[in-house]
Amino acid sequence: MPRTNSQTSPLLYAFTCGHITLPTGYFISGEEGKTKVPACVFLIDHPKGLALFDTGFSDRFVGMDKGLGKIVDMPEEHPVADRLRELDVDPDRIDWIINSHLHLDHAGGNHMLPNATVVVQAEEWEFGFTGEDGAYAKEDFDTGQPVKKVNGEYDLYGDGSVILIPTPGHTPGHQSARVKTATGEAVLAGDCCNFKRSLDDMRMPDEVYNADHYRGSLEKLSELRRQGAHIFYGHDPDFWASVPQAQELDLNTKNNLPSL
Ligand SMILES: [Zn+2]
Repeated sequence: MPRTNSQTSPLLYAFTCGHITLPTGYFISGEEGKTKVPACVFLIDHPKGLALFDTGFSDRFVGMDKGLGKIVDMPEEHPVADRLRELDVDPDRIDWIINSHLHLDHAGGNHMLPNATVVVQAEEWEFGFTGEDGAYAKEDFDTGQPVKKVNGEYDLYGDGSVILIPTPGHTPGHQSARVKTATGEAVLAGDCCNFKRSLDDMRMPDEVYNADHYRGSLEKLSELRRQGAHIFYGHDPDFWASVPQAQELDLNTKNNLPSL
């Protein structure tokens, strides 16, 4: 795997940093039972620097069998720093952490990336401190790195290749990322769209922070999908099983990714 990206467009890699088992209605309305879902993390290798989109669960969950440890499954090789080392990437080299939002399954690895600047929507950062939502753990997201608080769309590298777009509804300041690789456009959805069938059927979870905003975000993703972007759904175990892990994603290869 190339560690120095001399191409002008970003390379994209996917890997799993823990799982959580929750009632399925937490992810999509109208379904019974429970589902074990992955915490999905992406490495963006751009000539101007390395970025992660989300960082999965914290390594504090490794070996934990009480409390949240009963529903979070965090094998010892899953923490983001270990995943990066497997790819021969020193975690110290990560320049940017894009957090879709600051829930503990998305920002748990932030502390393992000491030289990164966290890029988050300002509204999300502020909401994380209010204590209104138990899925935020201050120890996971308030870890001392510089924080770049953005408002609305943000062009990370200034060349249009990685654009952060607001997709609120799951949380007040949720954002997704449009990544234009040499082989096609990926939209890293995060939790504005948990499953492929969430988008196919325009179905929200049972509970959302703001239903109007959530619907608007689904519509935004639907439009991007119509335009040909590959949507990477936030927590879809079936979709995720077909995404190659820890290797450069080729969005052109029909067999490489599930059908749109
Ligand atoms: Zn999540």
